[in-house]
Amino acid sequence: MQVLEVLRPLPSAENWTLEGLNTYASVADALKTEQCNDSVHVFYPKKLAEMAARFLAGFRGTNLYAVKANPHPAILKSLWQAGVRDFDVASLREVELVSKTLPGANLYFMHPVKSRQAIRHAYAMGVRGFSFDTLDELIKIEEETSGAADLKLFLRLGVAVQGAAYELSGKFGAPLDLAPLILRRARLSAQRLGVCFHVGSQCMRPDAFADAIAQAAGVLKSSGVTLDLIDVGGGFPVAYPGMEPPALEEYFRVIHAALDANGFNDTETLCEPGRALVAEAGAVAARIELRKGADLYLNDGTYGALFDAGVPEWPFPLDLVAGDERALSNDVIGYRAYGPTCDSCDKMAGPFPLPADAREGDWVLFEHLGAYGLTMQARFNGFYSETLVAVC
Ligand code: PLP
Repeated sequence: MQVLEVLRPLPSAENWTLEGLNTYASVADALKTEQCNDSVHVFYPKKLAEMAARFLAGFRGTNLYAVKANPHPAILKSLWQAGVRDFDVASLREVELVSKTLPGANLYFMHPVKSRQAIRHAYAMGVRGFSFDTLDELIKIEEETSGAADLKLFLRLGVAVQGAAYELSGKFGAPLDLAPLILRRARLSAQRLGVCFHVGSQCMRPDAFADAIAQAAGVLKSSGVTLDLIDVGGGFPVAYPGMEPPALEEYFRVIHAALDANGFNDTETLCEPGRALVAEAGAVAARIELRKGADLYLNDGTYGALFDAGVPEWPFPLDLVAGDERALSNDVIGYRAYGPTCDSCDKMAGPFPLPADAREGDWVLFEHLGAYGLTMQARFNGFYSETLVAVC
């Protein structure tokens, strides 16, 4: 077989469409038919539609999908088909990708630190929502949009809350004692003025959102300005092994109650879910290339889609798909895994509970990796995969 037959060509954004995806009845069918040399990304369209419906029906404001969680055009188009019209973008590339894939989408540039070119081009491409957490960034936005009168400006607050498995408060967010001053200044240039925050990813406590909303109310009171928008960010969780959060609807209930209790009844509300919208709609199948005792050498790793399995040692629901027709053993052992690159830190401690007879050619299926999987891939050592198949 020619090497070019086993290395998949890099698809361009235009032909990454749902219509272009090969669709299978099961992951095993997909792996058998695709005969892929790289790991395989799996997309469960029904699950995505179900999660989008839960957010659209349950959250009382606008749902901005955090594109960073999974920017694949098939995901973007499926969300659009499910009714999602608003997108949180972090970079100019994401602005371009979403604008090109979904020309009618409303984009919000919610990264609090942007380059001047990114602001300028994004505004020219129709973006009106921008976040910032300093006066300097606010001034950058004003200058690069030539003092535009149609901006939705969101001050990102550095709220202090507990309960997230992935802290996101260390890097961004205006200190709460400085926020009133920045808000007063922003009121002068914003057509619609908002605050936003992020309670941290995989937030296990609905009350963390209520705490953050109360802190936002405190800032607003000290500032004396009127607020048009409150964006409660992302952070909605997913059930992973050992992490069983309350139902999504409980988060909505707590958030709505906190908004009402803090005087935000009439304030336009937004949220920015990434993980909870797409995680369960995807999986990654990584092939075992070699087994050494309880160590599995896989064709994907921490420089690829399995960053979260290796670096923060995130637990994923697992399955093993036999590479041949054999019935797998019912005995389970805990494995350690290594990714395909030369780097010693390309390892995943696990332990990954899998059948005791796992062997070369079998595929380890990491479920709930529709978020922060495909998007985390580097191309180190030439290992990456852009093979996405749909399983219905
Ligand atoms: N919004 C912003 C500004 C973020 O930085 C992130 C994640 O980093 C998200 C939304 C999505 O968060 P999550 O995937 O936890 O819902």
